Amino acid sequence: MLPQIESLLVIQDRDHQIQTLQNELEKIPRDAANIKNRLSEAQADYDLAKEHIQQNELAVKKIDLDRKTRKDTIEKLTVQQFETKKNDEYTALGAEIIRYQDMVDALETQELEYMEKSDDLTTALSTAEKKLTSIKEGMADEVKALTEKKNNHSARIAELSQERSILVKDIDEATLVMYDRVFKKKGNAAVCPLHENQCGGCHMKVISDTVSRTIQEKELSQCENCGCFLYSV
Ligand SMILES: [Zn+2]
Repeated sequence: MLPQIESLLVIQDRDHQIQTLQNELEKIPRDAANIKNRLSEAQADYDLAKEHIQQNELAVKKIDLDRKTRKDTIEKLTVQQFETKKNDEYTALGAEIIRYQDMVDALETQELEYMEKSDDLTTALSTAEKKLTSIKEGMADEVKALTEKKNNHSARIAELSQERSILVKDIDEATLVMYDRVFKKKGNAAVCPLHENQCGGCHMKVISDTVSRTIQEKELSQCENCGCFLYSV
């Protein structure tokens, strides 16, 4: 194998590692935002569940008050009915009492419905609270893991870049410019094996002149189709 190919393969390996690490680094802000979003959503769910309970409690209080007012009215009407001497007024007051009693019954039914709803709302609040607590507890670890990942990846990229800067000294500038261009386009397939007459990068057949130059290993050869540097296996 040509020494330049050997060097390019090592450079390609480092470049590939750097590229993989950089791709992972780019995902970190999105992962951090996801953690934040999950927390915001859980907090919003919890706040909403709490608000529902408060609204329900207010509704129960209002019904209670309405019921009490009507009961007071019934008491007053009963006294008036007891005191009246007039038959028609007695009958009219009796009808009023029944009308108010119906209202009280309806309010009691409504109150029961709200009380039943209150149980469901309490369960929903408890579920939302558990979810929020669990996210809050896990969040610190997740953020720590992301920070560690960022630091480790950045340190490794610095190491690999340092290695690369030494390795490229063995390659002439024109070859390196060409390699960089192909790596940018093809990634890990900038330096590829030649399988018989087929390029290992793009899997196209290369011309016989390229095949012989690759096999002879006297100079660098490239696939005419994808531009990758070829070596014989
Ligand atoms: Zn090719």
